[in-house]
Amino acid sequence: MPEGHTLFALARDLHEAFAGTTPEVTSPQGKFTEGAAELSGRELLRATSRGKHLLVEFADDRWLHVHLGLIGSFTVDSHEWTAEVPALGQVRLRLRTDQHVADLRGPNLCEVASPERVDAVLDGLGPDPLRPDADPDVAWARIHRSSRTVGELLMDQSVLAGVGNVYRSEVLFRHRLSPFTEGRRMRRASWRLVWDDLERLMPLGVATGRIVTVEDELLAVEAALGRGEVPHLTERSSYVYKRAGMPCLTCGSRVRTRVVAGRNLFWCGRCQRRH
Ligand SMILES: [Zn+2]
Repeated sequence: MPEGHTLFALARDLHEAFAGTTPEVTSPQGKFTEGAAELSGRELLRATSRGKHLLVEFADDRWLHVHLGLIGSFTVDSHEWTAEVPALGQVRLRLRTDQHVADLRGPNLCEVASPERVDAVLDGLGPDPLRPDADPDVAWARIHRSSRTVGELLMDQSVLAGVGNVYRSEVLFRHRLSPFTEGRRMRRASWRLVWDDLERLMPLGVATGRIVTVEDELLAVEAALGRGEVPHLTERSSYVYKRAGMPCLTCGSRVRTRVVAGRNLFWCGRCQRRH
């Protein structure tokens, strides 16, 4: 499933391609014909994200609200010609100007939303570590009163917006935190370590288009970005995510997995004992 960094980069790409233009909006697949007609021919003012939600504002208080879900994708391409661009696959929504075309496929949710509906969506979401105005204390207020485990709470979008299964497993490992500590037993200092780390990790996910969590790689990516270079990324690596049964990179014991909050959590039982 796309995590918050994917949506953040998508909103940026849509904004760069379409803000200030009046795109033609269609539904080649036919499942969003009415909604597309309501948006088509209106100026696209801005595209933003909060957590895993994409919010695109059009003129006259119309918003496009998209959640990609597990398999959705939204591609943004430039084209310098005005001929037909074939709609490959099931394209729910297409935005098109003379320069750009963006195709949405397989979303969990695609709707035209009123400003009130957008407010309700935002009210239901916790702080997003990618947003500079996000307040980690809002999430902490929910975490430290909860009897649910940290592994569950990090996946709850009303607690924290944008973190998905990969960042959950990896950030807990990075701080040796047990995923099974109840929120009310988590130390505030531990929460700040998690939040501050997400504020470091997720922008690098936006910059590279990939989740990078292993410290050596992180340092290399940060150094490359600091020099204004494109980071060279080889194969994907992780501490525990999708490494069930393999030796922990730190202690050598087997990485474990269990379904928590509907997805496979990965952790090292020996390393991750802190609250
Ligand atoms: Zn270990």
